[in-house]
Amino acid sequence: MTKSKSSQIVLIGIFIGILAGGFCGWAFGESMLSVKFLGDIFLNALRMIIVPLIICSMITGVTNLGDIRRLGKTGYKTILYYMATTGISVVIGIILVNLIQPGIIEGAGKGVLPELLKGKEEFSFIDVLMGLIPSNLFKAMTEMQILPLIIFSLLFGGVLTTLGEKAKPVINFFAVSNEAIMKIVHLIIYFAPVGIFGLVAGKLGAVGGGQAFYLELSKLGKYALTVIVGLLIHGIFVLPLLLFVFTKRNPISYLYNMITALTTAFSTASSSATLPVTMECVEKKNLVSQKASSFVLPLGATINMDGTALYEAVAAIFIAQSFGIHLNFSHQVIIFFTATLAAIGAAGIPEAGLVTMVIVLQSVNLPIEGIGLILTIDWFLDRCRTTVNVWGDSVGAAIIAKTKEIEKPTNRI
Ligand code: ASP
Repeated sequence: MTKSKSSQIVLIGIFIGILAGGFCGWAFGESMLSVKFLGDIFLNALRMIIVPLIICSMITGVTNLGDIRRLGKTGYKTILYYMATTGISVVIGIILVNLIQPGIIEGAGKGVLPELLKGKEEFSFIDVLMGLIPSNLFKAMTEMQILPLIIFSLLFGGVLTTLGEKAKPVINFFAVSNEAIMKIVHLIIYFAPVGIFGLVAGKLGAVGGGQAFYLELSKLGKYALTVIVGLLIHGIFVLPLLLFVFTKRNPISYLYNMITALTTAFSTASSSATLPVTMECVEKKNLVSQKASSFVLPLGATINMDGTALYEAVAAIFIAQSFGIHLNFSHQVIIFFTATLAAIGAAGIPEAGLVTMVIVLQSVNLPIEGIGLILTIDWFLDRCRTTVNVWGDSVGAAIIAKTKEIEKPTNRI
């Protein structure tokens, strides 16, 4: 069977998996918890590969650039892309939540501080910065803290490029390991249809089936709609437009080639767990230069979160509206900046955005108990925003691949 034929079969399988998972979870509710293990196996397989993938691909990416100054320039353009697109998404969110006013509802209750946030009431951006440099690299690996691993790999790869001939065997070791890991990712993807079925059916089962989900959704319908419309505007108009303007690529075929990654993002609610699949789709299907994707994507999976930033801004203003607190223009400007920072600080794991939202709420003195108001529906919105996060990373990889630092051939050491 040809490679493209088998990947089409997997794609069809994924659609069947999502539809069947959605139907079974909706109709059979809690009994679907029995198939959750299928999703967990898929998720574990992806998680198993993340640490070696990040280390090998970042080191290979940096050494492929060949010159540490190129890394600096590429790095700064990457961060610029991340900040700009995140900023645009927050503006979309702020405009929509002010227009739709989802929080102005009769009898909006007062929230209660969710369990998830107990002990994290004082969470700040300093905590994010502190987490960048691990005191123990192996502990960072076992706890899957991705940013410290990225920092270490960047340093290690950068230093290797300064060592000349004798670094060659080490560089080759990481390059070949990277290839081997990508092959494993390819194999794991064959399991995606079944894994995605298990994840979707299991999650709907865990929330009590379709009826229960519908009830939750209808209570917070206007708020959920505001977030989803914002995500759609950003994902369907803004990002494809940027992709087209900077790369002249056809956004529809680029999107089509990303479907496996986007559906994995939706079903796992984790940009980090999706990273192996994102890399496979960006490199192997969209044929983006590995020089760009190998570090734009790992970095993006943890710091570039357009969807999360948009959601944090909408959620914070929704909470203010529900508590009857008026936010003036300067408050909203503060929310713009803190939502951007909070999204950068959020890890690429499920519901990380809920935790970093404390930064946004505290910056304008909103009660953090307000998070209790949006908790019931968060698992669903998390999936939607994670999909946009991953889409934003993928578009970023194609755009950065067009920069002259990447396009110029390198004299690899
Ligand atoms: N789950 C999101 C992600 O992994 C982060 C969040 O917004 O909670 O991208």
